[in-house]
Amino acid sequence: MFKTAIEARKALDNKEISAKELLDSYYENIDKVESDIQALNAITKDIAYDTAKKVDEKIANGEKVPALAGIPLIIKDNICVKDTLTTASSKMLENFVSPYNATIVNKLNDNLIPILAKANLDEFAMGSSTENSAFKVTRNPLNLNKVPGGSSGGSAASVAGKEALLSLGSDTGGSIRLPASFCGIVGMKPTYGRVSRYGLIAFASSLDQIGPFANCVEDTALLLEAISGYDPNDSTSINTPVPEYAKNLNPDVKGLKIGVIKELLGEGVQEEVKENVEKAIQKYKDLGAEIIEVSLPNVKYAIAVYYILATAEASSNLARYDGVRYTYRTNDADNLIEMFTKSRSEGFGDEVKRRIMLGTYALSSGYYDAYYKKAQQVRALIKQDYDKAFEKVDVLLSPTCPTTAFDINSKVSDPISMYLTDIATITANLAGVPALSLPYGVDKENMPVGVQLITNVLEEQKLLNIAYALEQAK
Ligand code: GLN
Repeated sequence: MFKTAIEARKALDNKEISAKELLDSYYENIDKVESDIQALNAITKDIAYDTAKKVDEKIANGEKVPALAGIPLIIKDNICVKDTLTTASSKMLENFVSPYNATIVNKLNDNLIPILAKANLDEFAMGSSTENSAFKVTRNPLNLNKVPGGSSGGSAASVAGKEALLSLGSDTGGSIRLPASFCGIVGMKPTYGRVSRYGLIAFASSLDQIGPFANCVEDTALLLEAISGYDPNDSTSINTPVPEYAKNLNPDVKGLKIGVIKELLGEGVQEEVKENVEKAIQKYKDLGAEIIEVSLPNVKYAIAVYYILATAEASSNLARYDGVRYTYRTNDADNLIEMFTKSRSEGFGDEVKRRIMLGTYALSSGYYDAYYKKAQQVRALIKQDYDKAFEKVDVLLSPTCPTTAFDINSKVSDPISMYLTDIATITANLAGVPALSLPYGVDKENMPVGVQLITNVLEEQKLLNIAYALEQAK
């Protein structure tokens, strides 16, 4: 078992271990811990060993391999991997075998990164605890009574539980950063458009973004580099070169301006979260950064805006699941309309239905101006808050979540309190900017606290550098 991908890389390059042996050891650990953690929907051994074999052959021939070649990775089960089940943890897609690879899966293959398994999630990535999966409840490896966060809970738990060294998730309103924070690892949502969404099962297309989980910032930088880049198959993909994030990591924050988001460190924040985030702020001061209090006045509307826009987009994206082609179909219908209705009623879980209804309502004639249009206008104001803040500071800082991981079952029957866990993460999606969660300190029960850092569009390098500074100074 290795702590980081860079450590494993050295062992592979020095031939202390082969890629196959590395895989063996992670599959052995999966066998040990998976019955407790329940992070995985499917194991993809054939794919993983096939890639490991290629790595071992290249290393044996003295060929140079990419930085993450042979490093075990687990992928969220809403990302299409050719010829494997891709379910989005929904009964609707229970038997869906993807006929193609997501662009990022092709990139993983080009980088010879073995995919060990598909990770559990909240159904269609809708949730904050991974309790909305149609198949299983994933548990936090640090305390099995707690949630791992969501919706990429399986991806985060698999890295925290040492089932892999790296994983990938998707983040529409916080689904990478929140579980990273709850599980004590690094998680990053890149700039909207930095990473291709082609082959990611759509939830809210103007917000969705794929991103990395890892045990340290350098591993995160390497994985981000591997998956980033322009893709003509995604019309929102940004066409700019991908920097060498890991090589250029620089922990010097002297003179940098760090903006602490006033609205996110006040009322409602758990005391120990506050204490640790304040320690992180002090650490940055000690390292020579300048701390400035910043106000994002429209943050208070973020949850309302998000739950109109995300549900509206979801209602339209999920219209395709009609029981006709590749999705679940009811056995019990006498006519076409009944077939549509029953397939959707039986195939979707409660939270997904709630979102479809909310979103359809927000888009319906007569209400469109009052809800959808208004929400778009407030989204623009939130973006302006960020633009103004970045005129003054290099990076924004807040807790990733106002609390540490909560108990399993404690919020399932209260959707509003579940929605509120995303108050600190949602605005970065609405503004399209990159954001990262870094573990910093623990609460009384030893559960990790996450510090969130946010930079301006396409400033991933700066974001990683600033996170690296805090990580190295610990
Ligand atoms: N928790 C938020 C939601 O349920 C965000 C989910 C996500 O980022 N995929 O919509």
